[in-house]
Parts: sequence; C-alpha cells; structure tokens
Amino acid sequence: MGRLMDITGDVGTYYLGVARTARVSEAVLGQQWNIRGHRSRHYHALHDRIQNERVPLDEHGRDVVLWKHDENTYKPHFSSSRTWEQVRVKKNKVVWSKSVWFSQGVPRYSFIVWLAIKDRLSTGVRMRAWGIQQGCLMCGERDESRDHIFFACPFTFTVWNRLAGRLCGRWINPDWSLTLQFVTRNTLSSLDKILVQMLFQTCIYYMWKERNDRRHQKGYHSTEQAIRIIDKAIRNRISSLRYKPDHKLAGLIQRWFEVFDNT
Ligand SMILES: [Zn+2]
Repeated sequence: MGRLMDITGDVGTYYLGVARTARVSEAVLGQQWNIRGHRSRHYHALHDRIQNERVPLDEHGRDVVLWKHDENTYKPHFSSSRTWEQVRVKKNKVVWSKSVWFSQGVPRYSFIVWLAIKDRLSTGVRMRAWGIQQGCLMCGERDESRDHIFFACPFTFTVWNRLAGRLCGRWINPDWSLTLQFVTRNTLSSLDKILVQMLFQTCIYYMWKERNDRRHQKGYHSTEQAIRIIDKAIRNRISSLRYKPDHKLAGLIQRWFEVFDNT
C-alpha cells in the first residue's frame, strides 16, 4: 500500500504499536504480525491488510535493499538520475532551455550562458552593490551590464557579427533579448540552428573569459584573435562529436566551413 507514514501520518506507528524507526521485520513476533490497532475504527482496514500479508521470515529468503526509481518502481541498482528526478524541485520548462542545454553543447559554456540569461554574472552593474566601480574593459563604456557585454559592446558585437552574421542574416542584432529570442526560436535549417546555438554559447563563454582576463591582467586579445579562438573552439567541438557517416549531423563541420570560411 506504500509507506505507512504516507497513509496514516505520524500517528500510525502509535496506533499499530511499533516504533517510528522500526523495520518491517521488527513488527513480527514468532510467525505472526505483532501489531495493535484492530480495535481502532480508523485503522481497521489497514490492520486487516497487514494481517493478510505474508510475514517476512528467514525461510522466505534474505532481505534485500531496493532503490526507488519512481513512484511505483523499485530496483536493486542505484540510479543517480532517477534519484535526482525524485528529490529535485520541478518547475515549468523555460522557453530558452534549448539555448543553454543541447546535445552538441559544452557544459562549461552552458553554465556561463545560464548565468548570463539569469543576469547573474558579476558584471560592473551588479558589482556596484558591493561598492566596486567597473566599466566595460573592452570599450570603456561606464555601465558594464549583461546587455552591454552581449552584444551591445562594439568589441563583442564585432566578434558576434563576424561569426554569426552569415547564419543570422537580417536578425543579427546587438540587442540581448532579440538575440536570445532568435537563438531560441528561428526558422533555420537543423544544421544552422545547431551552429547558431554553438556560436551563441561559445561567444558568450569566450567574451566573458576575455573580460575576466582583462580584469585580472591575464591577457588581451584583439577582435581578430578572439574570432580565431572561437572558430577553433567550434571546430574542435564539432570534431569531438562522433557521428556515423550517414547521420544527419555528419555535415556539420562542412556547413561551418561554408558559412565561416567565406566571410
Ligand atoms: Zn564595451
């Protein structure tokens, strides 16, 4: 019938006369169930159900531990994903989820994109609350906001435009919301759709890295160098994906050469 606590609440163990931490085997005495409660009006049916169940005895086999895989499925092996599904708090799917998580994506890029979408990157505008003044490290703009870095800043927009311009066509735009909207929903072919998603996350990751490198005096790249770095990252990622020759994504690297090499 399920967990006793779920059926009766905390008072159930009291009525049945078993300890709250008791195991099923501890509600047995000799060959019989050792529970009270048959006089209780509320638990009469429950009591009958238990009495009709087979008593767990050594001769019926060893006790085993089972892992809960979902509401009604128990298996001998542990599954971290099934366990996570049960303990996590589920909310409605956000419209932009595919712009952050997709099978060709790189997890460490996805993480930065996710922070960017939630506007949780520690930009100058957000650091102001901690008393830190920080303008744009690429162009000198006073307000270093998420929307400025992606991609209203002349530096980052130059990079984004050179890499994604051919794919986005007239939709290329320095505006954050419009760009996210386009990456999330567009009418591109399936290969181009994936390339735009990959470019979006790779550009955000490397532009944020460029910003941090400059902030901590770790390095400095020109737009031209940044474009090469991102192009190389995209190529490496595509090459690392193992598609069978006839897979519909096998032409991904070819398509990337077409749209990028000719620009
Ligand atoms: Zn800037």
